[in-house]
Amino acid sequence: MINASLKALSAALAGKQVSSVELTQQYLDRIARLNPEINAYITVDAEKSLAQARAADARIAAGNAGPLTGIPFAQKDIFCVQGWRTTCGSKMLENFIAPYDAHVISQFDAAGAVNLGKTNMDEFAMGSSNETSYFGKVQNPWDRTRVPGGSSGGSAAAVAARLAPAATGTDTGGSIRQPASLCGLSGLKPTYGVCSRYGMIAFASSLDQAGPMAKSSEDLALMMNVMAGFDQRDSTSLQRETEDYTRELGQPLKGLRIGLPKEFFADGLDGGVAQVVLEAIEQYRKLGAETVEISLPNTKLSIPVYYVLAPAEASSNLSRFDGVRYGHRAAEYTDLMDMYCKTRAEGFGAEVKRRIMVGTYVLSAGYYDAYYLKAQQLRRLIAQDFENAFKQCDVIMGPAAPGTAFKAGEKTNDPVAMYLEDLYTIAVNLAGLPGMSVPAGFSNGLPVGLQIIGNYFSEARMLNVGHEYQQVTDWHTRMPEG
Ligand code: GLN
Repeated sequence: MINASLKALSAALAGKQVSSVELTQQYLDRIARLNPEINAYITVDAEKSLAQARAADARIAAGNAGPLTGIPFAQKDIFCVQGWRTTCGSKMLENFIAPYDAHVISQFDAAGAVNLGKTNMDEFAMGSSNETSYFGKVQNPWDRTRVPGGSSGGSAAAVAARLAPAATGTDTGGSIRQPASLCGLSGLKPTYGVCSRYGMIAFASSLDQAGPMAKSSEDLALMMNVMAGFDQRDSTSLQRETEDYTRELGQPLKGLRIGLPKEFFADGLDGGVAQVVLEAIEQYRKLGAETVEISLPNTKLSIPVYYVLAPAEASSNLSRFDGVRYGHRAAEYTDLMDMYCKTRAEGFGAEVKRRIMVGTYVLSAGYYDAYYLKAQQLRRLIAQDFENAFKQCDVIMGPAAPGTAFKAGEKTNDPVAMYLEDLYTIAVNLAGLPGMSVPAGFSNGLPVGLQIIGNYFSEARMLNVGHEYQQVTDWHTRMPEG
């Protein structure tokens, strides 16, 4: 049962082979046994989860269950869940109990899903290894001495270790796709604006997007049916017709044009990863797809542009953590200014402070034109690269991350090496496009993800591109030992 797909779980629940309470309890038992070491969850509340499971069982018995009713999911601790501690991986919010639900969470609730717990993450979603979390690092279930990726590292480790059937993540520069790649999972960052950001603690608002992390592409599609949709409480939420994200699953890929950006197969890519990705692309050719070489000439600018814009937005978003309204407040201070300073000095970790300082600097008078404005102009050029590319192809493929999971501690003292983890993912956020990662094989025993980038709103098609590959490969069903 622990390796079952969402569809299989749904069928088992509908057929009364298992109850939601039994299923939830089974995961809670695994969490109790394995989480003390893996540290994928920050908060678990068995009573609350089981109460939801009982309600789901009643709904199933009454005959008005949906596809996800009764299935337990892990929620990244960036989503506010009413009555649950919501920390965003920070000491600043160590004791914060959310007074309301994020839109994505209320969608899961409405679907009758069960919340299994809140997953670990890099502090305020800043990082690529989950090592900046105030609640400690997370182990990669494939090799416990390695990182699971970040910032959705807890969600990735939870699903990889089968401590949840699936989980939510958020992706500002790669935080769904890179941990999915490093943990052997499927993960989707939707088009910007498809999932509401309401109640999702803000990092860089013009880039942040929620998305699903699961074993298979089909599971992602089922979750997207719940997570996506207009919400007037988020001014960037898009008002569009409701879509069925499973609608294209099963369509043949014959004639699909795959663009291979030459910049994604150049310096900086690990040889073992390159080999796995090229083999996956060969598999697509066997499925009838054609490949074309394309160019995304501004790829090299994406990391520098992101590290101006994301910190700028973060410095503004994080100004609300001042000790006055909520979260941590210093115990001793002399006056208001001292209270602000001590609170923020104590509440934030080093990486968050670094981002706030960089962001404040690039937004300051005299530097705004040179950095922030320039970065915004380059962002436009990066988006144009994709616009041009999609004249030649339907989807773009390449690696999701430049390497496999690295050793804990290996990059903690070198922020730039850490930032390069998102070399192939960040441009997608800057352009607002959808991107996903699917498991494509192993290099030295560690999972490798294939990235699929689509045009705006082409999620249903992309999910089928992942799905068809998963019909002829079994990488997505592999589980770490133990
Ligand atoms: N690794 C990137 C960063 O540290 C992206 C994080 C994310 O997508 N949340 O900012």
